[in-house]
Formats: sequence, structure tokens, C-alpha cells
Amino acid sequence: MQFTEGEDLHNAVRLAPIGICILNADTLIAESVNDKFLEVAGKPYDAIYGRFYWDAFAEARSFYEEALDGVVQSGEAYYAEEVELMLIRHGREEMIFVTFVYAPVKNKEGTVTKIAIWVLENTKQVEERQRVEIARTAVQKERDRLNSFFMQAPAGICILDGPDLVYGLVNPAYQQLLPGRKLLGRPIFEALPELVGTPLQEVLLTVYRSGEAYEINELLIPVAEYEGGPTKDRYFSFNYQVRRDENDRIDGILVFVFEVTGMINVQQDLQKAREQSEQQKRVYETVTSGTPDLMYVFDLDYRFTYANSALLSMWGKTYDNAVGKGLLENGYEPWHAEMHEREIEQIKMTKQALRGEVSFPHATLGRRTYDYILTPVLNERGEVEAVAGTTRDITERKQWEEILAHRSEELQAINEEMAATNEEQAASNEELASTNEELIATNDELAFVNQQLLEARQKIEESEVALRLAIEAANFGTWFIHSVTREFITDARLKELFGYYPEESLSIEQALAQITEEYRGFVTTRLENAIYHNGDYDVTYPVIGLHDNRLRWLRAIGNLKADPSGAFSAFTGMVMDITEQYLAVKNVERAEESLRMAIDAAGLGSYYINVIDRIFYPSAKLKEFFGFAPEEEVPYEAAINQIHPDYRQAAADLVEAAITKGVKFDMEYPIIGHNDGKIRWVRGIGTVQPDENGINRYFTGVLHEITEQKQDEVRKNDFIGMVSHELKTPLTSLTAIIQVANTKLKSSEDSFLSGAMEKANVQVKRMSSMINGFLNISRLESAKLLIDKQDFDLDELIDDIVKETALSVSSHVVKFQPCHGLLVHADQDKIGSVITNLISNAVKYSPKGKVIEVQCGVMEDKVQVSVRDEGMGLKPQDQEKVFDRYFRVESNHTQHISGFGIGLYLSAEIIHRHDGKIWVESESGKGSTFYFSLPLK
Ligand code: ADP
Repeated sequence: MQFTEGEDLHNAVRLAPIGICILNADTLIAESVNDKFLEVAGKPYDAIYGRFYWDAFAEARSFYEEALDGVVQSGEAYYAEEVELMLIRHGREEMIFVTFVYAPVKNKEGTVTKIAIWVLENTKQVEERQRVEIARTAVQKERDRLNSFFMQAPAGICILDGPDLVYGLVNPAYQQLLPGRKLLGRPIFEALPELVGTPLQEVLLTVYRSGEAYEINELLIPVAEYEGGPTKDRYFSFNYQVRRDENDRIDGILVFVFEVTGMINVQQDLQKAREQSEQQKRVYETVTSGTPDLMYVFDLDYRFTYANSALLSMWGKTYDNAVGKGLLENGYEPWHAEMHEREIEQIKMTKQALRGEVSFPHATLGRRTYDYILTPVLNERGEVEAVAGTTRDITERKQWEEILAHRSEELQAINEEMAATNEEQAASNEELASTNEELIATNDELAFVNQQLLEARQKIEESEVALRLAIEAANFGTWFIHSVTREFITDARLKELFGYYPEESLSIEQALAQITEEYRGFVTTRLENAIYHNGDYDVTYPVIGLHDNRLRWLRAIGNLKADPSGAFSAFTGMVMDITEQYLAVKNVERAEESLRMAIDAAGLGSYYINVIDRIFYPSAKLKEFFGFAPEEEVPYEAAINQIHPDYRQAAADLVEAAITKGVKFDMEYPIIGHNDGKIRWVRGIGTVQPDENGINRYFTGVLHEITEQKQDEVRKNDFIGMVSHELKTPLTSLTAIIQVANTKLKSSEDSFLSGAMEKANVQVKRMSSMINGFLNISRLESAKLLIDKQDFDLDELIDDIVKETALSVSSHVVKFQPCHGLLVHADQDKIGSVITNLISNAVKYSPKGKVIEVQCGVMEDKVQVSVRDEGMGLKPQDQEKVFDRYFRVESNHTQHISGFGIGLYLSAEIIHRHDGKIWVESESGKGSTFYFSLPLK
């Protein structure tokens, strides 16, 4: 639109909703200004109207003067869109945002005569927009921060959405725990089916239901790395928190998980290492307890950390009383204790072994002399961490040495005297005779001294013999190898163990030659290693005796011996004959092997479950029953999962009861093969096995296949069902015919005919009840026996049955003591058939003329019915079996009584399906009472 000059223009300007100011194009003097313009400009009317535009807006001149001049010259409008501008409004500098137009107004000739300035302030909108922008960036930043925490967190984090616990978010650390598994978007128990049935499933569901946070530490979960893969035992610590929606309703679970398998493994390794060191300790103890020398170890605070049995028995103390105590506390005198403490200090400093001799009065043995060696024990950094010592009682040796010294002094004196005497002899021949006499006396003394010397040597030899005898008593062979000369010194027992005579010499090579060939290399290597590399030497090997050709299993234990300087110089050891123990172990192993072979040969599947960690060890045959390949890993849960769903829970419960309560597991159940889908019926039998200490360690079981039998049973049942069903129809017609005939014969004169018809009626009824029995059996087996419960009066039912029986049975007296108003909720027909069966058994199995007594009453919240007869009764062993299917007592009495052994079986099934009980009390030859009880209505 183009404006033209005149009144219209002024009005339009004044009323316009945006700021307008009209300038003269030549002078740029404001000729018209509306209120809105003044409002935006923030200046009074007079400051603009009638003034040069750039005087009024001096602060904006340098920015827009050029643009305005351009409009005047070119006749083209100038647009400024949302520009930031500093204006002096109401005397103050203000930054504002405006959108404005410099629009040329032309006359008819097209010359620009005026400039219209249109202006609109946007400050508020722009600031609002900026604020929104800042807030948006802040939110975005916060979200990024959270996201990067989530993605980088070292713990596995995931969010499970909704009641189905669908993986909504999974951070890399979580995915890392299960690298090959697809998780996102899948419900957890579909993505990780191995969790189904574990405690974790219950926990997750409970957390979701209750909203309570939950923490589990070091939980063992067997998980597979990729779907369907083999599971591995891993340990995790979990933390679950619920997530709530804006209405505070739970809508998910936040899971934090750390894998701690590594930590647990370290703990287990530690435990193993501890056990090994314990074992080491036991070996050392065995070795040190056999020697008469005193052996001990001090810590750096002079406390005993070890004392062998010889030392303990010298002190008269127990290990626990002595170890951990210092010298004084163990009864050493102060001078003696201080001496050793000084020596320990010295060893700490020099790291050198030292040797000493000490002598002190012993409580019972008198004064004793001891020779001892203290040796530093160095740790892996070469620092002294303890001081080990051995002490030997050398009193005897000392005493003889002293006597010897004394004697040689005497000898010396005598010699001197002799010299003097000789001199005197030269000087005086007269004294020769007496000197000769003295000489003789001296010779006597010499002989005496020699004698004493001999005895001393004998004594020393004797004490060695005693030591040897002690070792011989233990029946160990002992040996000694000098590590440099390799001289091999053995005792007679050792020679005997290698089949040598005591007087023969035996070299190392000869001994090794007696070891059987397959062990010789191994033993030689171990021995070399022990001598030259300070290795362990504890080996078991078979030896064939040289002369006696006997096979012996020997165990040899050896260790390096340090000489007083601490250097190693000799290797000592002992050898024991462990043939008997070894063969015993082998025999057990052989027996186990044959048992295993027998199990395999019988086609039995076998398995055992470790009671403590519940690890399942199935045999190959068992895997085959469950439809797995022999090499497949089959954990316990996988096996249980293959059991038919109708039997699965019952089987699992029974195994659990067998493990925890020690009851026997015996159950028949069908299995659906894992790979082949084949249905196999098996009978499983199992029990927990105590170990030699009587602690239950393993649950072992065997399985054999009974599919064939099961199929036979089904076929048999089908056949019985079919035949019984077919027989029913003609029998029904027969019953009807007999009934009609009976009514017709009522008025007949022929008493034989009416009697015969009556008997025919009874026989047909018996046949019909027998066929019903078979039909029920087949229904029962195919689970089609339905229980249709209603309320009825038990009293009336029994009364009816008793009366009906009286009509057909004249051989016995049936008595009934009514018990009024016993209302029960049960299947009337079926309970009726149970009572009929019990009464007809009483009739069948008791002689004519006897009384049958039927009773009913209430016993402890239950209705109880009993049928008592005075018949042949039942032996105790038969009483348990009479309720079994097809069971009949076989005896001369019963062989002429017809029956199939199904009546009581059916009765028991019916009663059990009513949650009732059935049982018998009986004495052979005197009668039986059959009872059943039902819950009271
Ligand atoms: P059936 O009587 O058809 O053989 P049941 O199942 O009713 O079948 O009984 C099973 C077995 O129990 C009988 O064969 C019999 O040996 C024994 N029995 C049942 N009732 C009695 C009873 N009242 N006295 C002695 N023995 C009985």
C-alpha cells in the first residue's frame, strides 16, 4: 500500500497500533508522531515532533543514518528485523530489541516526499526466548551428564521396565557381564532363562511388588555367556531400587550389579593355600616328633613359636601352654634366658647360625649338658624373621670325655713319675727292685685305664644302638646321603625293605634299581631335585625286593640337613612300608570301578549331588535318559526341567526332602528328552550317603527305564476298560429280564423256579458290581474317576446298604448301630461302594453264621466307619498290602474264594480322594476290622 498525503494519512498514523513517525524527506524533520512511537522511543512528544530526526535520536544516528539516506535516494524501503539498539529512554540508556521499517512515501510523480518510520518493540519476546534457550541448554547438559555417568559407570546398571521386567536401559558395564547375550527390549527371564527358579527371580519379583530396596552380596549364579551356552559359576553382588512414575506407582527396577567372582576365587585360593601350609606343618611335625633332639623356633621377641614333642615332654608342658611364651615363662633361669636372647639378637644382626654348649641342673636327670645350634630363618627379602634351633643332649658324651681327660692327666703324671723313677734308677741300682714294683703297679693302672676307655666307647656305642632300636621299633628304614660325596648310608630295615640282607652293602643306584621301571625315572628326578634344589621329597613307589622278590609299596620322606655353619650338607630320610594301606585304597577303587561297570551294564543311569554345593554329577547314561548328549554339561536344573510338568515339582520336592531329611527317594516319572523330545518313563531311587565321619556329603541315585512296563500297563488298562464296557450292556438287559421274570414268578406255584430266579438275580448283581469295579479301575488309571460331592446323611446310607445286604445274604448276621444325623460332604455312590465292598469282604472272608458289625461315629473332627468280622483275619505282613492293586492273600482258605484284588485298592483310592484315611486292624484267625474316616462336614 502506498500512502498519500492528506488528512487520511494523519488519522491512520495517529490510531495505528504500531509506532509511526512521518519525516519530511528533504529535511528529515518529524512531521507526525503517534503515541505508540513515543512509547517505544521513551521520549516526550516535543523532543521528536518538529525536530530533525537525528537530533531526536542522536544515540542511533551513527548506526542508521546511512540507511535512512539510502531510502530517500533510492525510493526503496529499509527493513530492520529484531535488531538490538541502545536508546536513551526517560533519560536512561536502555538496550532494547526493535523491528522497524523506513518506508518511502512518494507523490504522484514518484518522487520521495516523506519517509514513514514503522516501529515495533520486541524486547520482551526476545528476552523470553533467550531465557527459554538457556533453560533448555541447562536441561540438555544435565541429561548428557547423567547419560555419561550411566554409560561410564564401572558398575553394571540396568533399568527393568514394567511388571514383566523388560530391559529398558543397559549400560556397557552391565552388557560386559553378559557379552554374548541380547538383553535390550526383552523381559529379563526370557533373556536370561537360567535365572528362572533361582532365588534371584523371587527377589526381583518381591522388590517390584513391595517397593523395598534390596541388596544381595556374593550370590552364586550359574550364567551363560551367550544364549543357550554352557553356564559358568559366577558370583555377583546386587542392589535393587524401585523406580516410581509421577503418580508414585512402581514402574520399574533400577539394578546395580558388581561381579565379585574374582574376589571369591582369591578367597578360595587363599583357603587352599592355607590348607597346604597346614599340611606342610603336619609333615614337619611328623618328622620333628620322631627325633630325641629338641627342636624349636623363636620369633624376634624371643617367644617360642614352635616346640617339638621332645622339648615339650622335657618341659612337661602341652604345645598350647608353651608356644607363644618367652624363655622365662617356660621355666628357663634368668641367666640362661638372657644368654639365648643375646644370641638371638646376634643372629638378627649377623644373619649367621651359631653353635653353643650349655649345662644346667635338670629336675629329674641331674646336671645335663646340651649342644645347640641356632639358625636364622630368612624371609623372601633376606631378612631374619625367626630363629630356629636344635639342641642335643650330650651329657653322656661329655662325661666320658671328661673321664678321658682326667685319665690322660693321670697318665701324664704317671709318665712324669716314671721319668723321675728312671733317673733315680740310673742313679741308684738298689732302688731298681722297688722301682720295678712301682712299674708293675703303674702297668696295672694303665691296664685299668685302658679298660675304662674301652667301656666308655662301649657306652657310646650302646647309646647309638638304643637310638637305632627306637627307629627300628617304628619299623622305618632310615638313610642318609652326603650331598657332595653321595655316600649312601642305610640301616638294616631299609635294606630289608629293598630285599637286601642286613650285611650286604646297598648303594643309591642299587636301591633305585629295585624300584619298578615305570616309577624309577620319577623317583630319581624327585630325589635329585630334593638334594640339589632343596625340593620337597615325599614320594610313594613300588619296589620289588632283590632276594625275596616281594612287592612293597614304600613311602619315602626326606629333608636336607644343615651343618652348624648353616650350609646344607646332607640329606636324611626315612622309608615306611605302606603296602597294606596302599592296596586297601586300590581295592576300594577297584570295587568302585566294578560297581560303576555293573551300573553301566545294567543300563542304569546314575548320578550324585554334592549336599554342600548342590553340584550335580550325572553319568552318560543318565544324560541319555534326559535326552542330552554324553559330552553336554547338564546342571541339576536342566535335568529337572526335562521332567514332565505334571511330575516336576513333586520330584524336585522329593529330592530336596531326601537331601535335607534323609528320606528315601523312590518315584516313577516321565521325562521329555531334551534333544530328541522322546518320552521315557523311569523309576528313580536315591539316598544320601554319609561319609566315614557319618556326615551326609552326597546324595546318590540310580535311574532305570520302565517305559515298556508303563506302556503295557496302559494297554492293559485300556483293554480292561473296553471289555468291561462291552460287558455292561448285555448285563443290563439280563438284569431287566430277570427282574421281569421275578415279578411274573411271584404268583407262580413253582418254588424251584422262583428260588432259581432269586439266585440268578444275586449272581447278576455280583457280576455287575465286579464289572463296575474294573471300569472304575481303568478310569482311575486314566485319571477319569470323577468325585462328585454332595451333602448327605451317612447314617442313612449305611442303613440302606445293610438292609439291602440282609436281603441277599442269609449266611451271616449283619448288625448296625446307627449314629444319628452324620452329615458328610462326599460322593454318595462312591462312599456307598466302599461300604458295600467292606461288608461283602467280611462276608467272603468269615465263616457262615458269624456276626458282622458295622459302626459309625465321630472321632477327633472326623467321621469314622468300621466293619468288623470274626473271620480268618490277616497276618501283619499282609495288612499293609491289601490296599495294593491286584493283591490277594494266597492261602488254602482263600484259593476258593473268588475275587480280583481290586475292591480294597479302589476303596482306598476313593477315600484318599476325599482326603480321608483307610486302614485295617486284624489278628490272623480271629477276625479283622476295616476302618475309614472322612473329614466332618
Ligand atoms: P478281593 O476280595 O476281590 O480279592 P479286595 O481288594 O477286596 O479283593 O481284597 C484284597 C484281599 O484282601 C483279599 O483277597 C483278601 O485276601 C484280603 N481281605 C479283604 N478283606 C478281608 C477280610 N475282611 N478278612 C480277611 N482278609 C481280607
